[in-house]
Amino acid sequence: MLNLILFGPPGSGKGTQAENIIAKYGILHISTGDMFRYELSNNTELGQLAKSYMDKGELVPDSVTIAMLEKRVNENPDAKGIIFDGFPRTVAQAEALDALLASKGTEITTLLSLEVPTEELVARLLNRGHSSGRADDKDESIIRNRISVYHGDTKPVFDYYDEKRKAISIQGVGSIDDIFCSIQEQLDPLV
Ligand code: ADP
Repeated sequence: MLNLILFGPPGSGKGTQAENIIAKYGILHISTGDMFRYELSNNTELGQLAKSYMDKGELVPDSVTIAMLEKRVNENPDAKGIIFDGFPRTVAQAEALDALLASKGTEITTLLSLEVPTEELVARLLNRGHSSGRADDKDESIIRNRISVYHGDTKPVFDYYDEKRKAISIQGVGSIDDIFCSIQEQLDPLV
């Protein structure tokens, strides 16, 4: 199985590149951000809970996020691989993911981290806020809080996989096609 973590700060292009990756490699896409937005649009209890964190640019608590993720993985036993987008965002989530995959006799193949400077991220997200309707993209202070949560809570996930020699940095500035070329250079030898 090709089990990939697509990693990087908010606005680094994970969603865009995830689409390219699933089109080429045919693996299952799991985005926890998309799952929370789906719950929210259906006004479920989970959606309401997630909203109270998302609106502030904070992380939804690990227990809730991990349970939701595990359910989605368990619902797809025949996937030939999975791309995790927006998960894991804490070391506790990474440990839970590794344990889940180990229980299925598989593991994370690699983590690809899209590297983009902070001011470029803020500009991209504000721009996305004009068209996406995402509340968390409209306010610069919420955007900056998400980036600082990334540096505080999420960046250690890179180090966690780096210690296992599984983390790779990719330059995330440039054309979408050029960035996808760099991603393919990393993934093609693995499939
Ligand atoms: P972005 O990468 O642009 O911040 P996402 O769509 O991945 O956007 O996530 C939006 C919000 O959903 C996050 O700011 C956070 O509140 C919540 N969220 C998504 N994934 C997770 C996660 N793995 N753990 C905790 N909260 C999450």
